[in-house]
Amino acid sequence: MSQPIIELHHVEKNYSSVPRKGLFARKENKPTVNALTDINLRIWPGEIFVIVGLSGSGKSTLLRTLNALITPTSGEVRFQGQALGSLSAAQMIALRREKTGMVFQSFALFDERNVLDNVAFGLEVAGVAREVRHQRAREMLAKVGLSHVEDNYPAELSGGMQQRVGLARALVVDPAVLLMDEAFSALDPIIRREMQTLLLSLQEAEQRTIVFVTHDMEEALRLGNRIAIMEAGKLIQVGPPEKIINAPATPYVRHLFSGVDTSRWQLADSYADVWQPQA
Ligand code: ADP
Repeated sequence: MSQPIIELHHVEKNYSSVPRKGLFARKENKPTVNALTDINLRIWPGEIFVIVGLSGSGKSTLLRTLNALITPTSGEVRFQGQALGSLSAAQMIALRREKTGMVFQSFALFDERNVLDNVAFGLEVAGVAREVRHQRAREMLAKVGLSHVEDNYPAELSGGMQQRVGLARALVVDPAVLLMDEAFSALDPIIRREMQTLLLSLQEAEQRTIVFVTHDMEEALRLGNRIAIMEAGKLIQVGPPEKIINAPATPYVRHLFSGVDTSRWQLADSYADVWQPQA
């Protein structure tokens, strides 16, 4: 079996809340928030790994430790075998720019740049010549079906189109890992489904490693090769949809999927033959 592309060992993250200022200041700080508790995880090349949980369960924090946007309080994150904690600041920036791409719920496009220059941004930062980066950006725009709007500005596009631009911008540097934080959650249901379909078809063509955060169970089941369930900063269960559906680790996991049509994944017998890698 190949090596994991990302590994987490005993990762913890505590946020210390900011003490209140002024007249009502208290001497002691508010208690720290345990956003992540003893997270152990392996993510494999080419899989869509979905992190699911209720709001505040630690999904975004976990995602941001993968490209060192957040440094764990303790524990280790390894990316392609290299401990992120051992990287210099310059190496960390290079990792973020060259090996990972990120897509946000809020799109986070540059309003003053047209679509083509939004998509080309990562290549511009990397010092790629204008003609080459525009050529690559055009290829990406064709893949997400937006060739006809390359001269438009983000404000002129619908939400779904803006997120296609966000996706093209993240993919243009050909990152080893694509990180998606509730990327489709702001879109209306039909557009959201279209975006899921687009992502799955891109994935069929390119087999990239994708880590996708969502609070939506249907989305998790549709996209995930494996699903990680988070509750209050802890990983409760990791496995392929069949396993999560047929053998939920806790009543909480079962509850998360209540009301979702899971018939496609329900197995009569065991799930012994399903997708192999385990956390
Ligand atoms: P999710 O993505 O599942 O909604 P988050 O990772 O955003 O969860 O947050 C996990 C917990 O950490 C929550 O209790 C949240 O309030 C807290 N938290 C997140 N970011 C910060 C921060 N910068 N400072 C203090 N607490 C934070």
